[in-house]
Amino acid sequence: MQFKNIVGHKKVKKHLIESVKSNRISHAQLFLGGEGNGNFQMALAYAQYVNCEAPNETDSCGTCSSCIKYENIQHPDLNFFYPSAIGTAVKTQPTSRKLSKEWIEFLKCNEYFEMKDWVDHIGAGQKLAIINKYDSEDIIKSISLKNFESKYKIVLIWWPERMNIECSNKILKVLEEPTPNTLFLLVGHHTDELLTTILSRVQIIKLGSLQPSEIKEGLIDKEGIPEDLADSIANLSNGNFTRALELVRQPDGDELFIDSFQTWMRLCYTVDYLKLENWVDHIHKLGRIKQKDFLEYGLRIFRECMIYNYASPSLNRLHQKEARFNEKFSKFIHGGNILPIISLFEHTHTSILRNAYAKLAFMNLSLKMCNLLKSKP
Ligand SMILES: [Zn+2]
Repeated sequence: MQFKNIVGHKKVKKHLIESVKSNRISHAQLFLGGEGNGNFQMALAYAQYVNCEAPNETDSCGTCSSCIKYENIQHPDLNFFYPSAIGTAVKTQPTSRKLSKEWIEFLKCNEYFEMKDWVDHIGAGQKLAIINKYDSEDIIKSISLKNFESKYKIVLIWWPERMNIECSNKILKVLEEPTPNTLFLLVGHHTDELLTTILSRVQIIKLGSLQPSEIKEGLIDKEGIPEDLADSIANLSNGNFTRALELVRQPDGDELFIDSFQTWMRLCYTVDYLKLENWVDHIHKLGRIKQKDFLEYGLRIFRECMIYNYASPSLNRLHQKEARFNEKFSKFIHGGNILPIISLFEHTHTSILRNAYAKLAFMNLSLKMCNLLKSKP
């Protein structure tokens, strides 16, 4: 992984490169940031950079023998540790080592990913994946060996929050006494779930949320999608690039949200109860995650209507199909109904997250929308 393959975070990249050039390489670092914002990728690109035989001003070379091994995720001095659980891939006493084949396969087919993708990949269902005491024994074993060929041996721990207490305590000892030519790169998401004693022993590299403009650029670059679609998805993905990629790749993602939303609003306006019931059935089958996304999508469309009405259509951030719908639909959304609509959508959103029965929640919302769409400006 080279820095150039990571979406956004220009300042962090620059800071990391400068720290290497001025020989300020801390033996234990925590790459901290939300899921899907690239902190794992940043740690890996950093590891590749510090070991590159011919690094340049902005990146590792990508072609030396170390870089090639890093790109293939098979370097003898690159050690990964990550949460594991019993599943289809391993039946007893799971560890990172036992899942190493699956891990490499996983990294090769997912440039960006989240914990849920990994758990799916190893067929662990609903089980909580953790980093256990056997992993900590393997970590200690790996640092006791001499480096095979590179300047720095890397121990990259993904989700250190998931180290159980036995593992955390062992790792703490290791972090206290730096091992020569070994770098610990922790890739974490929530500092409140890490032991303060661990936090005090690492240098924290903080990665903020990705900006919509960075996500847009990343989508155009990696997925080659049209600019207006990239723009629209970037605004939906909450600074999470994994989420943005999911929206692009789901055939029934954003493109179909507009169709579904348009149909729904038409049925509410014409108060067609029978068809509304069918529509609610369809939404019910989508599952909780998409229902939540759909409500967020609706909120965005209402905001765009207000911008169209009260600011200027030139400020709208919509792709073509949405813009055509927005032009006609905006006249039904105004100062007289926008607040109750937003509060209803937000309330339904919370209920869905709290496991409310979706059919009922969406039917209630639809009936209230029937009245609200008819209200006077
Ligand atoms: Zn190189």
